[in-house]
Amino acid sequence: MRIDLHTHSTASDGTDTPAELVAHAAAAGLDTFAITDHDTTSGWAAAVAALPAGLRLVRGAELSCVSPDGRGGYCTVHLLGYLFDPAAAAVVAQYARTRADRRVRLARIAEKMAADGLPVDADALLAGLPEDSTAGRPHLAMALVRAGVATSVDDAFARFLNDRGRYYVPSSRTPVHESIEMIAEAGGVTVLAHAFAHHRGPTVTADVIKELARIGLDGVEVDHPDHGPEARAELRALAADLDLIMTGSSDYHGTNKVIGLGQETTAPEMLEAIAERATGVEIVAGS
Ligand code: AMP
Ligand code: FE
Ligand code: FE
Ligand code: ZN
Repeated sequence: MRIDLHTHSTASDGTDTPAELVAHAAAAGLDTFAITDHDTTSGWAAAVAALPAGLRLVRGAELSCVSPDGRGGYCTVHLLGYLFDPAAAAVVAQYARTRADRRVRLARIAEKMAADGLPVDADALLAGLPEDSTAGRPHLAMALVRAGVATSVDDAFARFLNDRGRYYVPSSRTPVHESIEMIAEAGGVTVLAHAFAHHRGPTVTADVIKELARIGLDGVEVDHPDHGPEARAELRALAADLDLIMTGSSDYHGTNKVIGLGQETTAPEMLEAIAERATGVEIVAGS
């Protein structure tokens, strides 16, 4: 069984449409995969419609959240929500608010860049994104690549768009405990994404994860391309200690990143634990 529980489409900052993502998941030999676009479920329907026989889809999303970092400050965390009811009023409201805020924020970053002479046009960029999709820094990165200012998305992040850079503006983020409760109330299961991806920016301490587990976090993403051996070992031990579900996932973003689908995978019994707990929507099998 090959299971990859974290991927992105053009509904957020991936480069595959949901249908292309499904086709690539099948071609990669996956048995089950999750679509987890940032702050939207707008890719779900097209992904379901494209599912071939033999491939199963876990519908999910990755929520932008803010958390105490355990050192007296705050940091961004990403929360994966699986199999929740996408029509739950709180979910619909939060996503609409976040997506609107993210468009304003992208325009602010673009304005700062344009003031420095970088060739970015926020209006044109935002007008070109699918309806109900989530705008993110990778869209600006791709624009910089198209304009010949950066050689790749990674290069654009390294030089202009990273969290420590001069153009950085934080995105709209919900307190993580609110998101955990919201997804639980919508019948979903929550997994903390790439919690110890230290090179991306500030991360939470193990004590924070303990506290999140206490308030209902279901699992942690252990095997992730941005986790080195040490981070994986720490998270695995923590998850065992706290009786949390452990997942492994590629966090595939199409050509925005070099990671391939199925590069990291989740054990079947862990997927079973997620499916057993969820009461929002079911895993869909292609027919
Ligand atoms: P945003 O949600 O707009 O703050 O942008 C965060 C997204 O940018 C992440 O989900 C990744 O897809 C991508 N990202 C973050 N850091 C990097 C990086 N160093 N190189 C390439 N992509 C990145
Ligand atoms: Fe992303
Ligand atoms: Fe993430
Ligand atoms: Zn992701």
